[in-house]
Amino acid sequence: DLTTATVRRAADAPPLITEADLPPARHFIDGTFLDGPTERVIDVVDPSTESVIARIPEGTPEDIDRAVAAAVAAKDQWARRVPKDRSEVLHAIADRLAENTDLLCRLESANTGKPLAVSRDDVDMTIDTFRFMAGALRATTSMAAGDYAENHLSVILREPLGVIGVITPWNYPLLMAAWKIAPILAAGNTLVIKPSEQTPLTTLKFAELVAGLLPPGVVNVVTGYGAVAGARLAEHPDVDMIALTGSVSSGRAVARAAADTLKRVHLELGGKAPVVIFPDADLAAASSSLRTAGFWNSGQECGAACRVLVHESIAGRFVEQLVGEVRSLVVGEPTSGEDVEVGPMVSKPHFDRVTGYLERAKNEGVRVATGGGALDGPGYFVAPTVLVDVPEGAEVAREEIFGPVVTVETFADEEEAVRRANDVPLGLSASVWTENARRSHDIAARLDFGTVWVNSHLVLAGEVPWGGFKGSGYGRDLSIYALEDYSRTKHVMHNHER
Ligand code: NAD
Repeated sequence: DLTTATVRRAADAPPLITEADLPPARHFIDGTFLDGPTERVIDVVDPSTESVIARIPEGTPEDIDRAVAAAVAAKDQWARRVPKDRSEVLHAIADRLAENTDLLCRLESANTGKPLAVSRDDVDMTIDTFRFMAGALRATTSMAAGDYAENHLSVILREPLGVIGVITPWNYPLLMAAWKIAPILAAGNTLVIKPSEQTPLTTLKFAELVAGLLPPGVVNVVTGYGAVAGARLAEHPDVDMIALTGSVSSGRAVARAAADTLKRVHLELGGKAPVVIFPDADLAAASSSLRTAGFWNSGQECGAACRVLVHESIAGRFVEQLVGEVRSLVVGEPTSGEDVEVGPMVSKPHFDRVTGYLERAKNEGVRVATGGGALDGPGYFVAPTVLVDVPEGAEVAREEIFGPVVTVETFADEEEAVRRANDVPLGLSASVWTENARRSHDIAARLDFGTVWVNSHLVLAGEVPWGGFKGSGYGRDLSIYALEDYSRTKHVMHNHER
């Protein structure tokens, strides 16, 4: 039996959250949680236990319209704040989040099933994103000026865009919200965010925690489905830009909905990161890095190191080391200990999708080196899996599985490695493993991905941009590039002879 993992349970552990920890299950518009009855609700499920932990309103187009109106009303006042003031607000938000780290971690793990250590990393980076943007905004709002035409002085202004719509996914609910909200506010915009219908709790909690720190209407949250609430946000004539992190198909829908008003679009979509390993690489370092980078967030990670391309001369040795690493991963409910590394898939449909990929791969003759299927319920657990003998063009090597699954293919030379690494429609991130600097430099230049790591994988920082090429979308999160994305450039030219 290759499915060696077992799910660690914590029958006697206290639940991660109590009623008192939950945010109001309401839309947050114009500085308050709306009251009154909600007609239709969506169940929010704990994927470790399959129990319903909250019910949130199913937002309508009218709810979106109200939230956009609040953001429009707030935008001039927020845009006029001097950088120092906005910076102080962002620092205050970071402080408030930091004071509530434990609560945010428990809430995120209860809603997504992710191990507490992953939630902790998410919350830490959420706080750091606000701190980075609080500092960066003061350095980047400066004006450039010069005499570029005779007797004329140019002033180049960076202005906010106005109202920005934000749509976030379920894999990093709070962190993906922060990657948008922090630069959007830093650049002087107001916003309406629609979190994933599956994981709205930390976004609502964020609104609850920071409500008193922001003027009403600057941040608004509407919960609901993508095809209804999300679609209205993307098409809304008073929304100046729409930013989505999500799947490629949602990206297409959002870009289409945005086309009529020609609003700006910012898309962070899927990934299928190749990990190219040459014979001179440190194989122990590569396999131990894959243990983390291939299975972080239970593989529900757009930059996951999920597609190994290893030189044929070392493939056997490498797979042996990798399988040893993967078998040592601790799978469990978040309540079963701080050392849990892999949790459940976020939902039943997603679990079915991931296990469906595994079943089809096995039927097509792909060999399972470890894992390969579901683990016992309750909860949507899948065994950490390594698939080998994966033929070129196989479905599992081309499509984003978004689960704890790493595929291994082999190559004969550099040309083949680069060609096959690039031969996917997505271009988010990749890594190359070699001790040869000439080779790493050359291969990194030829890989068609927005981020390329050399002898590393999945290391991020607030200062560096994150975003994809090709089907992975356009626009950048993090860094000053995100601040630029959420701003517009105006040139004012003065004739100083008159
Ligand atoms: P998803 O596309 O199903 O949902 C994302 C969001 O889009 C949700 O809020 C959803 O309600 C909304 N949505 C769906 N259809 C919509 C429509 N027609 N109009 C407007 N909004 C719509 O994605 P998901 O399953 O929640 O997240 C997983 C995907 O996100 C993966 O493909 C993953 O690679 C990607 N992702 C990318 C990054 C990145 O930085 N590039 C980060 C995290 C996740």
